[in-house]
Amino acid sequence: MNIKAYGTPAANAPLKQMNIGRREVTAKDVEIEILYCGVCHSDLHTARNDWGGTIYPAVPGHEIVGKVTRTGGEVVKLKAGDFAAVGCLVDSCRECESCKHDLEQYCLNGFTGTYNGKDKHSGTQTFGGYSEKIVVDEHFILKVPSNLDLAAVAPLLCAGITTWSPLRHWKVGKGSKVAVVGLGGLGHMAIKLAKGLGAEVTLFSRTQDKKKDAVELGANEVIISTDHNQMNSVKGKFDLIIDTVPYVHDVNPYVSALNINGTLVLVGYLGGLEPILNTVPMILGRKAIAGSVIGGIAETQELLDFCGKHNIVSEIEIISIQDINEAYERMLKSEVRYRFVIDMASLKK
Ligand code: NAP
Ligand code: ZN
Repeated sequence: MNIKAYGTPAANAPLKQMNIGRREVTAKDVEIEILYCGVCHSDLHTARNDWGGTIYPAVPGHEIVGKVTRTGGEVVKLKAGDFAAVGCLVDSCRECESCKHDLEQYCLNGFTGTYNGKDKHSGTQTFGGYSEKIVVDEHFILKVPSNLDLAAVAPLLCAGITTWSPLRHWKVGKGSKVAVVGLGGLGHMAIKLAKGLGAEVTLFSRTQDKKKDAVELGANEVIISTDHNQMNSVKGKFDLIIDTVPYVHDVNPYVSALNINGTLVLVGYLGGLEPILNTVPMILGRKAIAGSVIGGIAETQELLDFCGKHNIVSEIEIISIQDINEAYERMLKSEVRYRFVIDMASLKK
């Protein structure tokens, strides 16, 4: 089927309206009319080919919430009229050790990304949620808790699960000392979720005027990362630090802020570290540096259910699709408070 979307024809071109093809609904597929789509910093990295490998035209968007419009004959999870969500994954091999353990994000044969991936059914490129509709196998569809605001749920599908997964993996709970680096889309969800799990939470930010917001989001403490005295005051403190900064930065001060056995988990920046990493504090303190990518389908449903139970959603600014290029510029200036969500009804304009 041919549908309307918003995407970019090249790394240096703005996003604009275009038509894209989607596969027809097969037996196990669910067709969703997209109501809201969150704007992730990864959308911008992909649109501008920051990581290399973007195929054009590219249609970003992997924080998708909508309404089921059609289902294939074998679908049991949802029916037409239900609200449903799609995150960063739309397929995986489902046979490897990772997939068998609900870790589709670490599929040994490579997962299929919601955008810039390869559709296994049609062999064509996958296009994301800045579009009218999406067709996805029911295994990769999430159910949305009925008590939450649909637009504010959208960012849970990437910003939420990307921070939830390390919080769960490193067993954060009551009394854990957690810190978050960077208060953007991922960072603000990390604070809310760590708080929801009972942790004591600290924010590291470069931005003085985000302090009040951080406290309202649930942070017990805010450390301005450019202030040496403040940085020294938290040496050896944290069990887990989640670093969401998208660009290269010095991680050594965060290693120093870890407790013995503590872990710094990088979820933002992809690439070589600069300045170089000093192993001395790691060796002398049995500290670890790790990475983590999004989360599996079962874990994403666990997150959505947890958010439903604890009434946790993202802090959002709703935009029209026509404002997307300006939104990217504002995101680059760290101006977003704290996630843009596109009202996809604007695509009909
Ligand atoms: P965002 O909303 O733009 O937030 C990033 C925050 O990092 C900013 O608000 C800012 O916070 C801080 N920051 C920005 N530039 C910085 C710099 N040069 N040096 C130090 N701090 C800086 O981005 P996001 O959507 O949360 O995404 C964050 C990163 O995670 C992106 O690179 C994205 O691609 C990646 N990501 C990874 C996964 C995964 O699975 N691992 C999933 C989704 C996204 P302050 O103003 O507080 O300093
Ligand atoms: Zn994302």
